[in-house]
Amino acid sequence: MQNIEAFKAFLSKPQRVVITTHHKPDADALGSSLALASYLKKKGHQVHVITPTDYPDFLRWMAGNDEVIIYNENQQDHCAALVADATLIFCLDFSSLDRINELGAEVRESKAKKVLIDHHLEPEDFADFVKWTTEAAATAELIYELIYDLGDESLIDKSIAESLYAGIMTDTGSFHHPNTTKNVFRVCGELVGLGADTARVSKLIYDSNSVDRIKFIGFALSERLTVIPELRTAYFVISADDLKKYHSRTGDTEGLVNYALSIEGIIFAAVIIDRTEAIKMSFRSIGDFSVNTFARKHFEGGGHKNAAGGKSDESLEKTVSKFEALLKDYKKELTTTIVEYAD
Ligand code: 5GP
Ligand code: MN
Repeated sequence: MQNIEAFKAFLSKPQRVVITTHHKPDADALGSSLALASYLKKKGHQVHVITPTDYPDFLRWMAGNDEVIIYNENQQDHCAALVADATLIFCLDFSSLDRINELGAEVRESKAKKVLIDHHLEPEDFADFVKWTTEAAATAELIYELIYDLGDESLIDKSIAESLYAGIMTDTGSFHHPNTTKNVFRVCGELVGLGADTARVSKLIYDSNSVDRIKFIGFALSERLTVIPELRTAYFVISADDLKKYHSRTGDTEGLVNYALSIEGIIFAAVIIDRTEAIKMSFRSIGDFSVNTFARKHFEGGGHKNAAGGKSDESLEKTVSKFEALLKDYKKELTTTIVEYAD
């Protein structure tokens, strides 16, 4: 953060803080928010965490979860009042205000100072204080560094450390992706030193499947996966009925895209899901094929070079046809992308 001294001075007086994060928060989004909330409370600030939507049950173990306010019809007025009354608003793990639905306009209009902490590509310029870099694997990595830079590492307790560790673990795909840098291991090492129990976090996040979810993954793998080896692409198409049949809950489709990407020779993977209110898409790639560009250009989305998402307001069938036609347009990029690893 360039103006960290001004930020520090601002935080030296008690503030009314709102922390918000992106639509359908993942472990990095929620872990960063709850860790920061817990830290700021220790510093004597009044803090509310508002999420634009619900999030998976496998994140509910995080300390502070019970106090999260989910923006919905019942909470709309309450959230609007908190945002309007705030003196400081943190926007974590997203880079443009349209990613937080109706909340975005309220945040934009609020007189509060705004802080953006994020690692997504192409951030919108709306914040007074910015800690942003695509070099970070996770927003949680940046939250750790911010607390450290504010001279408060000693305030990071076991719960804060575990929420942050969860964000880094999941955004690096359990330390599989190329964003797994030396700094990631350094920060995770510090978090373990501060009490994070890594086996406990792994178990809570990855090994808490419902039987329905496991059966849904089996069904998707056997019935809903298309592989096009000549375009090095594999994708799932999931209908609203499929979700209903397996009593799908928020988070149940998370990670599905990775099965497609794990197929030998595949460099581009997608999941196309009919969420009823819209068609939601998840994209992953290996190497230089930028799914951020692909999502931004064709599906009103964005994200990172190798992990992005988007949406479509057309039917599932039309969206899939558009996607399949695009694959042909991208044939050259898809077939010439070289995946290289350092010696
Ligand atoms: P996921 O596929 O796991 O939902 O998202 C992958 C990455 O892309 C995440 O960093 C997420 O924040 C981002 N992302 C997902 N959907 C969208 C979207 O609709 N718009 C933008 N800008 N980013 C998205
Ligand atoms: Mn993230």
